Amino acid sequence: MTEKTTKPATHRFDAEVNQLLKLMINALYSNREIFLRELISNASDASDKLRFEALTDENLKGLDSELTIDVSFDPQAHTLTVTDHGIGMSEAEVIENLGTIAKSGTRQFLESLSGDAKQDANLIGQFGVGFYSAFIVADEVVVETRRAGLSPEEAIRWSSKGEGEYLLEPTTKDKPGTTIVLHVSEDHRDLLNQWQLQRIIRHYSNHIAFPIQLQIPAEDEKDKDGVKTEVVNEAKALWARPKNEIEDEEYQSFYSSLANDPQGALSWAHHQVEGTQSYSLLLYVPKQAPFDLLMNRDAVEGLKLYIQRVFIMDAAEQLLPRYLRFMRGVVDSSDLPLNVSREILQDSPLLKKIRATVIKRSLDLIEKITEDGGDDWKKFYEAFGTILKEGVIEDFEQRERVASLLRFETTHGDEMAGFDAYLDRMAEDQETIWYLTAENAQVAKSSPHLEAFKKKGIEVLLLTDRIDEWVVSHLSEYKGKALKSVTTGGLDDKEAKKPSKAAKKLAGRIKKALGDQVGEVNATHHMTDSAARIVNDEHGMSLQMQKFMRQAGQPVPETTPNLEINPDHALVEVIENEADGERFESLARLLFDQALLAEGGELADPAAYVRDVNALLVNALRTTDSESAS
Ligand code: ADP
Repeated sequence: MTEKTTKPATHRFDAEVNQLLKLMINALYSNREIFLRELISNASDASDKLRFEALTDENLKGLDSELTIDVSFDPQAHTLTVTDHGIGMSEAEVIENLGTIAKSGTRQFLESLSGDAKQDANLIGQFGVGFYSAFIVADEVVVETRRAGLSPEEAIRWSSKGEGEYLLEPTTKDKPGTTIVLHVSEDHRDLLNQWQLQRIIRHYSNHIAFPIQLQIPAEDEKDKDGVKTEVVNEAKALWARPKNEIEDEEYQSFYSSLANDPQGALSWAHHQVEGTQSYSLLLYVPKQAPFDLLMNRDAVEGLKLYIQRVFIMDAAEQLLPRYLRFMRGVVDSSDLPLNVSREILQDSPLLKKIRATVIKRSLDLIEKITEDGGDDWKKFYEAFGTILKEGVIEDFEQRERVASLLRFETTHGDEMAGFDAYLDRMAEDQETIWYLTAENAQVAKSSPHLEAFKKKGIEVLLLTDRIDEWVVSHLSEYKGKALKSVTTGGLDDKEAKKPSKAAKKLAGRIKKALGDQVGEVNATHHMTDSAARIVNDEHGMSLQMQKFMRQAGQPVPETTPNLEINPDHALVEVIENEADGERFESLARLLFDQALLAEGGELADPAAYVRDVNALLVNALRTTDSESAS
């Protein structure tokens, strides 16, 4: 698309780059040190890529032997230089990568910035806008790069002052790779000393698997070649090091760069499996949900697959089920072929085994967080509980295990409870785990369906998350006990009074008045405070579920709700005394509409409801007025 550069040419940045540069320079000023982390991380990625391509490309063989990352500085010239010997970039790649923001989420990201520097710094950190962070400390950046496989003459020089445009010119470069020179701005020249740089590199980049060599200029001016070189980091893949030698801080800093998440991890697990098949697993549970986790079910990027320390690919889909998509980490196998493709991975029995272990270990981690409770659990559950619930729906094998990690509001006190706590508390002869789904806990707690349960002291779990309806529709039992909704009216209350003949007759009259909009009408003594409630048949869809489906634009099967009336309620008694006629019909409708409303349901004709209520009110109040006047 672009002509090859033979002489210097000025290009304008993509508009979003410009916007981003300005934002970033302001928002990240106080967090300036991250620029070095970003440049080193790019250098490390470029070295990984070269190593990977050299596996299959004969022309690149040998280039991957000395993959160091070199950092040098010149206090006189005010420059800081980061050099790698990695894959480099062609001219087209330079334009694509350093002139535009190719990533799809960027526009959305820019829109989500709040203007609050502190929060924005956090978000930018999460997105890892990488290379451009150089402009936090530099007033000019020069990149010289040569794509591995291209000739020295095909190198390209990119330079910019970060003000709307950049210059591209041809150059020559001895070795493939990339050199980035920062002309450090006056405010930040304190960075240009050995101690600062050592500290920053150790702090942010210790875990980088390539040696980071800091070149320290000779103190003695006469000693021109006296540059000392020092390897500053561990230069070994963290997961390959013996576990007992790794500090928590190192695990955290590795996580932060792996997941691009400055908040750190909630917990992690590190396993080194030896034997006929050996592999390492390093799994993390993050503290916070990345910005697009819930919306984007397909953005599964959490697990990186390495083979013998060589980064192969983001293989989260092969290694993680969707409901664990918040997990982050690394899998390194010694027994997969290095030239493995996604297709081969899909069918690899070894990978299937590793996947099963990843699932098991992830659930172990979550179980531990759940058992420990407290703030960590709260954070976890708020951020990822909804996603975890998908496991009950999707993972048949782990269904009960995942279910055991869920917590719900309950009629038993203010603490959330899981199924196991429920089983522990319930009476010996109770066969059913009862639940109620509702829009929120408040609606749930005042639901007429709970009255019979309250009376008998039976605990009911209150399911108020949207996804809960789906969860229970896939979980018909837990540890041998059936799960049932209280709205099915299924509480087999043997002691309850049988309805009288008169009550049955009233039920029949109401059914006649309401016609097809209602299924059955029955009188029972299950309720204490409410006049009526809506009851589903055991296998029918609850009103709540119907509402969610409608909101999600899904077709909802036609169902007619059943009505249950409470003959002991004053309103029902009044209706009973009303002779058939218009007023009886409007009272019957009112009873039905009320029951729908209490359920959080929607009325077919809300205006008619209001009209009915008003007519009755006027009538009732006039009667009392005239009574008191006489
Ligand atoms: P990210 O690294 O998150 O993709 P960056 O802005 O840091 O974003 O870099 C953009 C792209 O530029 C990288 O994806 C990579 O393709 C390329 N790039 C950056 N630095 C280097 C480098 N040192 N060597 C090769 N390519 C690089």
